[in-house]
Amino acid sequence: MTATGSNPTQAKRVLLAAPRGYCAGVDRAVLAVEKALEAHGAPVYVRKEIVHNRHVVQSLAERGAVFVDEADEVPEGAIVVFSAHGVAPVVHQTAAERGLRTIDATCPLVTKVHHEAKRFAKEDYDILLVGHNGHEEVEGTAGEAPNHVQLVDGPDDVASVQVRDPEKVIWLSQTTLSVDETMETVRQLRKRFPRLQDPPSDDICYATQNRQVAVKAMAQHCDLVLVVGSRNSSNSKRLVEVALSAGAGASYLIDFATEIDQVWLDGTRTIGVTSGASVPELLVRDVLAFLAERGWNDVEEVSTAEETLTFSLPRELRQRRVARSQPTA
Ligand code: SF4
Repeated sequence: MTATGSNPTQAKRVLLAAPRGYCAGVDRAVLAVEKALEAHGAPVYVRKEIVHNRHVVQSLAERGAVFVDEADEVPEGAIVVFSAHGVAPVVHQTAAERGLRTIDATCPLVTKVHHEAKRFAKEDYDILLVGHNGHEEVEGTAGEAPNHVQLVDGPDDVASVQVRDPEKVIWLSQTTLSVDETMETVRQLRKRFPRLQDPPSDDICYATQNRQVAVKAMAQHCDLVLVVGSRNSSNSKRLVEVALSAGAGASYLIDFATEIDQVWLDGTRTIGVTSGASVPELLVRDVLAFLAERGWNDVEEVSTAEETLTFSLPRELRQRRVARSQPTA
């Protein structure tokens, strides 16, 4: 793309970030609930929101998914899907005690971080988990090794970190953080613990990184950046922060096109549009239609990466497919 920045004489235009929207982990998790409903009929219980998006949760609820906060709210013997954000081992234990049939839709990239936590706990490291306090993913990862993991919720938390042996410390992270803020947190941690080890591979996932890179590329040319995503979606909220720090005049997080305030558009020429990793494309299309009705017909895609990654369905659903395709005696 060859954006040249906005000025008052330019026509109204939209810059549309790519990649945006669904990542491979969200796609798989939503499909898992749909397949579970198809295979078993309603109700299918889902612990927590399957992904952090209001539209997705409402649509699945209309089709018979029942969202609960904890596995002990699920009737004994029923089917429960664990969300893309992952769960602590204690949740698996509760489900087993209640005889629940579980389908684990934890994103494989979250599972990778769980494995890292287990591995470094076994080697008796102090693990500094950079992430947001109270986020489901962080609770799940920390739950793998509660005696070894300490949460570090941004640079302000660094001063209070205590470790047993500064020679044996590693940092891991939530998958959906701001890359820049995380690097700042790590820089501060390393000042205190020069021997701090890096994770074996990036924990902030490809989808989070790609969406932030795309927003950075367009934000400096935008008077306004609209991020489609829900308030509890970590990666969506980060896109607003990244847009603002990359030079957007303003940026707002919206679930639906109907939330756009006409005042935001006053005096605006170039509007950037993107969406978080849990957002279906139809919600972005609604925003583009809203803008087109108000004169923003010229849409230019700002593409910074191609995404081709896909994940196979959770094991429990794959097994069922295999079992169905076995010839009967
Ligand atoms: Fe997986 Fe990343 Fe998508 Fe989260 S945002 S579900 S970690 S691919």
